[in-house]
Parts: sequence; C-alpha cells; structure tokens
Amino acid sequence: MNSELRTLTRRAESRNGGRRRESELRGRRSGVAGGISRRTAIGLGAASVVGLAGAASLWDFFSRWREAEAPADIFKGDAPTGELWELWQKRGWVKEARHYLKLGRNVQCKVCPNNCILEPGDRSHCRNKVNRDGTLYTLVYGNPCTFHVDPVEKKPLFHFLPGTLSFSLATSGCVFRCLNCQNWEISQKKPEETKDPRGEELRLKPPLPAGLTMEQMSRLSLFPEDVVAVTEALGCPSISYTYSEPTAFYEYTQDTCKAARERKLKNIVVTCGSIEERSGRDLYQFADAAHVDLKGFDEDTYKKLNSGKLSAILATLKVLKDLGVWVEIINLVVPTYTDNLDTIRRMCGWIVNELGPDRPLHFSRFHPEHKLTYLTPTPVETLVKARDAARAEGLHYVYIGNVPGLEGAETTWCPNCKKAIVERDIFAVTRMDITDGKCRFCGTKIAGVWA
Ligand code: SF4
Repeated sequence: MNSELRTLTRRAESRNGGRRRESELRGRRSGVAGGISRRTAIGLGAASVVGLAGAASLWDFFSRWREAEAPADIFKGDAPTGELWELWQKRGWVKEARHYLKLGRNVQCKVCPNNCILEPGDRSHCRNKVNRDGTLYTLVYGNPCTFHVDPVEKKPLFHFLPGTLSFSLATSGCVFRCLNCQNWEISQKKPEETKDPRGEELRLKPPLPAGLTMEQMSRLSLFPEDVVAVTEALGCPSISYTYSEPTAFYEYTQDTCKAARERKLKNIVVTCGSIEERSGRDLYQFADAAHVDLKGFDEDTYKKLNSGKLSAILATLKVLKDLGVWVEIINLVVPTYTDNLDTIRRMCGWIVNELGPDRPLHFSRFHPEHKLTYLTPTPVETLVKARDAARAEGLHYVYIGNVPGLEGAETTWCPNCKKAIVERDIFAVTRMDITDGKCRFCGTKIAGVWA
C-alpha cells in the first residue's frame, strides 16, 4: 500500500474505528409501528384503497401488513426537514428509492423483509429511507461514512481473488439490530449522525489528496463513478459493499455495481442476506462474490439475537447460487446463543444439501461487543468442535477466524489428497499451491475464483 493510500485509510479508520460502548442507541425511536394510532391511520387508508377488490384481497392485504409490520422500528416524524433536507438534496445524497409501493400518501419499501410502511415524514427501520410527501427516498446515495482498502481475506473471502485488495465502503444504517454488532457505531446510526453536508462540497477523485480530515470526511461525496475511478486509481480489482449492510444502501450499491461492471471491476457484497427475492435478484445480478453472514440456524434465536428471519437468509443463499455468484458463509459462534452443536450440524447439513460441499464456511470467534459485553469470548474448543462437525457433515472447506495462532485454522486443504494448498497468516496469503484453479499436487479442481 502506498503512503497516500495508507494515510487515506488511516483517516477513515480514525473516524469510525474506535469501539465505544453505548448503553442505549441514540436517536428517537418511537416504536409506533405497533401503536394503535398508526395502525388505525394506516388501516383506514388501506381499507379505502383495497375495499373495491373484495373481502379476499382485503384479508390478504391485512395479513401481509400485519406480518410485515411486526419486526420494523419506524422513526415517526423523523425525516430531515428545512435547511438540512435542502442541503442533503443539494449534495445529491437524496434519491428516489427502488422497489417500493405507494399506498395513498403512505409508502411501503419492498427491499428487505422488514417491509417498512411509512407515513409522510417518517424514517425507516434501517434509518436511511424517508417518506416525503408520498415518495420514498434514500438519504445515503453517494454518501459513504467510511471507506478502507482491505485484503479480500478480511471480508473474509478465501476462495475469491486471493491476495488482492478491495476498495471497501459503507454508509450508515442496517436492516438488523444484532445484539453483538461490531460496527454499531455506523450500522445503528442515521446518516445525519455520521455525515454533515454543511460547508463546501467535497468529492473524492483521482489524483487522491494526501489525506482527509474528519471534517472533510464528514462532507465527502463519493458517487458511483467516483468510487470506480478511485478504485481504479488505487489498483484494486474489486469493490466491497460492507461494514454496515449494503441492503440498507441498496440504490447506491446497485448503481456502483453497474458502473464497476462496465469497467470490468468485480463487486463483492458482504451481507446479512436479509433481502426480498425480487430486489435481491435485481441487485445480485451485478455481484461477483458475496460473503453471507448466516448467524445461526434457529428462527427464535435469529429473532432474539438479530431481529431477523432465518428463512429469508436461506432463500437469499439459494438465489445467489441460482445467479452463479461466488458465495462464502460466515457463522459467528456466540456462547449461549449459537453454540449448540446439534444446531450447527443441522446448519452444515443444509449447506451441503442445498449449496453443495464446496461452499466455504468460516466459523468466527465471538468477542464481547455492543449489548453482549457480559458474555465471554467463544472457547476455542467449541470452535474446533464446530469445525469437526462441519467436516463430518461433508463440507470441504471449513475455517476458524478470530483466533490468531491456531494452527491450520485458516489453511485450505485439498479435499482429495488432503495436502495443505493455501496457507494464510491473519489477512495475508503466505503460500499457495493452486495452479489454474487446481491442486498442484494431485490436480483436483478447487472451488473458487482464483484469477
Ligand atoms: S431496506 Fe430499509 S426501508 Fe426498506 S424495508 Fe428494509 S429496513 Fe425498511
């Protein structure tokens, strides 16, 4: 990495890299999604819309509405207004959202299974979308709150362009509420809490400046064409949409993916996988690789730990397979939540049956974070047992992450001759015995994208 790049990365890290504790999420959260007044208001509006379609349609509408509304936090009346809204528009950070329905003056986002229903002036569960006068807008277009240049091994992706760097970016916001989130300082924040549009407009373009101050970072714009230009100038072969959740910056991710593909750059989506099938297919058609966080294999735990639905993530994994996107899966083993070996075995069995034995699986060690600081780190013994169970279920490539020094934890073994063919040390590839995608010792094809 050249010194210019190091400085840029360091600046961005210093803005978002500290891990402070937070007893409560800041920002106003009304919880009105379950409140009587909103149900009544939306229900009356909805009834007038669908009344003519008959009782069956009415029942279907309310069933879907009740199901959709249950998990979402809606921030009532929290959309930016006045000078802030005007500045946000002037910067180009506001863009009409994709995949949403108009329900009179209300709107329903159909990007992820939260299916947020917003009245005018409301802000979405992911914090990034608002209803202004009956139109749904994203607030994070060209508006990243952080960027870094990372080895792809850090995603982690072990079977996709090994040893290369990826230009990685994120905006605020997330569709989940994970109790153990490592990046809550950006994922559980509104765009206005991570960026400030006041002052002169600043767009990052080559030639790159020697560094960015925190104040400059705060008003930085990086539109899709800028991301591509910067990635090319840095010599990175790929762009990663990561750290928070690309589904929460859907429009920005999609347009950047399109621009990157035109320039033959690869797109890597690092995601929780919670996305509706239609919007998922529309986005992932431009993805080359995906790193999917399969956080467990039990619906109740998913709801408690992540506020998500396991079934939605499994459906996304099948969509990615169907689209031919290279996928690696990570599973964070959280003590008392996701460390049950029988459940881990069931998860691995599902992966083998539905996605095949060549799907790499990374078990990751939990460290006390965010709202789970009272737990202890995952015992290494538990991770080793999980790896053994995964291998016994038939998975060929199983890794253990976040345990520096554990021998063989990040080594790729040939499934045929059993020799070590790729060795890694933290995020660096230290030895690779794969030629033309095949084991150098026995010629067996090794699953992945190697060049
Ligand atoms: S992407 Fe955001 S606004 Fe859309 S449904 Fe999901 S949480 Fe709601």
